Amino acid sequence: MTRRVTVGAEIADAGVGRRRLLMGGVALGVGGVLGSALGSGTAWADAGPPITDCAGWKARPNSAVVPIWNQRPVKILVHHTATPNQADTSQNAAFALARSIQNFHMDVRGWLDTGQHFTISRGGFLMEGRHRSLEVLRIGQRQVEGAHCTGQNIVSIGIENEGTYSTVGPPAAMWNRLRDTCAYICRQYGIKATEIYGHRDFKNTACPGDHLYGMLPRLRTEVGGLIGQRIEGEEAQKASWPLLQEGDSGPDVTAAQYLLRDAGMTEGEPDGTFDATTAAAVRRFQLATGAEEINGVLGGESWPELARTVRYGESGDGAKAVAALAATRDTESVPDVVTAPVWQRLLGTGGAPIPPSSDPVGPPR
Ligand SMILES: [Zn+2]
Repeated sequence: MTRRVTVGAEIADAGVGRRRLLMGGVALGVGGVLGSALGSGTAWADAGPPITDCAGWKARPNSAVVPIWNQRPVKILVHHTATPNQADTSQNAAFALARSIQNFHMDVRGWLDTGQHFTISRGGFLMEGRHRSLEVLRIGQRQVEGAHCTGQNIVSIGIENEGTYSTVGPPAAMWNRLRDTCAYICRQYGIKATEIYGHRDFKNTACPGDHLYGMLPRLRTEVGGLIGQRIEGEEAQKASWPLLQEGDSGPDVTAAQYLLRDAGMTEGEPDGTFDATTAAAVRRFQLATGAEEINGVLGGESWPELARTVRYGESGDGAKAVAALAATRDTESVPDVVTAPVWQRLLGTGGAPIPPSSDPVGPPR
């Protein structure tokens, strides 16, 4: 998400959490996993990391009843706030961030409350986002409906990380808190550590930034370590789609251009350069396919629609897209039927499949 944030306020990180962790850890007896986690000083066992609730950061009341569903989320979505990577890592700054986001979501977006379930500041302060997210997480049976990613607001927990992580990584304090938070959420809901994703996996957005997005395999692995799930290398790498936007170039762009022409969105000759014309074609495609945002960015929402099944023997633009990728990927052979997983492999973004799950429709139940 993109929003402007102002700063100023305050709180204090609870040293209490650490003691709870040590006690909880012994009680849990998670053995070697816990032992190593304790060594790194960042695990919080069953009590989880300290979380400041909405009252703690002086949230406004929600403007309508927060919907709560009688089902557990099955994944976590990582976001970045796309705000400046400010130097102020204090509690004041963290609380001000939380209030600023809430104001933006309520006053500009018109939502009933903050969209995400939780927020982590650059100083590592973890805060409840939407009201009731914390109490519901503590019990671990139900789910607060969020507003952080359409179609994934009930099946996933949304975490906003303060900053912009396109070219730089998160500060250690933030990363560690994100890892502990994910571990706690996974434990509370029985979510596998592999089920941690980026916003862009589902939408045409750069969120959570190239750099942080690239760290998700590491996050899955580290979270797995904290909760006693061994994540092998291939499991940590999930299948995804390349994020393409104006300024990009290369065979991925060429393939996308062929597919856009195949879909009737452009008549231009593919040249591997994602320029304004390509962006316009993407926007037309997004409009035609009912994408949430018509922004000319080709990402996780539009790729699955664009990368249609191509069969051996075809000679149109779909086949040319396959050929353009196969020629540059050093691929031994292309299956007779090119479906999403094959496209992803050809695009260099293959990995373990994302189990399909999306929000139920209708009133909360
Ligand atoms: Zn996001």
